Amino acid sequence: MSTENPHLLDALDVSLAEFAAAHALPKYRVGQIRRWLFEKRAGDWDAMSDLPKGLREQLAESFRLWTASIARHTTADDGTEKLLFALADGGQVESVLLRDEVRRTICISTQVGCGMGCVFCASGLDGVDRNLTTGEIIEEMLQLQRLLAPEERLSHIVVMGMGEPLANLDRLLPALEEARRPDGLGISARRITISTVGLPPAIDRLARHEANYRLAVSLHAPNDELRNELVPVNKNIGIDAIMAAADRYFDVSGRRITYEYVLLANLNDRPEHAGQLARLLAGREALLNVIPYNPVAGLPYETPTPERQHAFRAILERAGVTVKFRHRKGNRIDAACGQLRRSQQPTVVDIAAQI
Ligand code: SAH
Repeated sequence: MSTENPHLLDALDVSLAEFAAAHALPKYRVGQIRRWLFEKRAGDWDAMSDLPKGLREQLAESFRLWTASIARHTTADDGTEKLLFALADGGQVESVLLRDEVRRTICISTQVGCGMGCVFCASGLDGVDRNLTTGEIIEEMLQLQRLLAPEERLSHIVVMGMGEPLANLDRLLPALEEARRPDGLGISARRITISTVGLPPAIDRLARHEANYRLAVSLHAPNDELRNELVPVNKNIGIDAIMAAADRYFDVSGRRITYEYVLLANLNDRPEHAGQLARLLAGREALLNVIPYNPVAGLPYETPTPERQHAFRAILERAGVTVKFRHRKGNRIDAACGQLRRSQQPTVVDIAAQI
């Protein structure tokens, strides 16, 4: 098999249609192949046992099914599993499967590295290398799904792994299409959350898109001065423009916006920050997800003490903000953004369970 073969998952419908036409396949074959991929969780062409052997060989000669290999696979006591993928060009991304009661949530990456430069985040320490392709994003989903026991079903997707999803919408949206399709993963848009640093034109583009995904905005600071420090791209954008775009998204989608706030000791965890945050969110249909910082080796930031966390929370709750603190999951397997890739010290935040 040549590595030059196209990745089947990159343009699945077109590739299968062309292949079916070129080989004069009966129509139902395409459906069979799709079922093997999405429903029956096939690991390779050979697993597709109701396809004639000759056809499986022709498929293998025409397409690459997987382009990435699993470089590491870790499992935590609570059932959280994390995959580190080695991509065909040597880049690495990570993806997580979270088990929470009946929920089976996957957290996927969209870029190798990240260009947003949030000062506390492991993913962006070395900048962004490239966008993932549509096929690579679907591959993450399918490989994570393959970790499930036969009786388990994927229920939710959060696009909260490595990278800025709104900087790679062209490739992400077709991948999410496959996630939603009944003959894909069959996960409805309201169970799919896209997390962004806040890029207004891309938020507006998402608002025009036919599917109403849930939107999470990573705020991390209640004023521009502080946000410029923590989230450097903010200098060119500003909180007002982000809130306005998020409001428009809410108007169009009817989906409550989630705001994420990584709580960093002595930086954005003071009572006045909580007060400002409460004023910013007042009157908005919003869920505030506070994430006590998950330390990244080599970075100077610290997790606030439980007392500071409680005080922060109390101010917001008194002001009537709907606030959730994310509980920790996946301890000891580095299940936070970009951490496995850097092979950091443990402990982790559940990046998903609360949305
Ligand atoms: N680029 C997107 C998605 C990436 S990460 C975004 O900015 O939303 C998902 C969330 O995890 C973001 O809110 C991010 O700021 C947060 N995060 C990153 N590193 C973290 C860390 N070390 N501890 C806690 N949260 C972190």
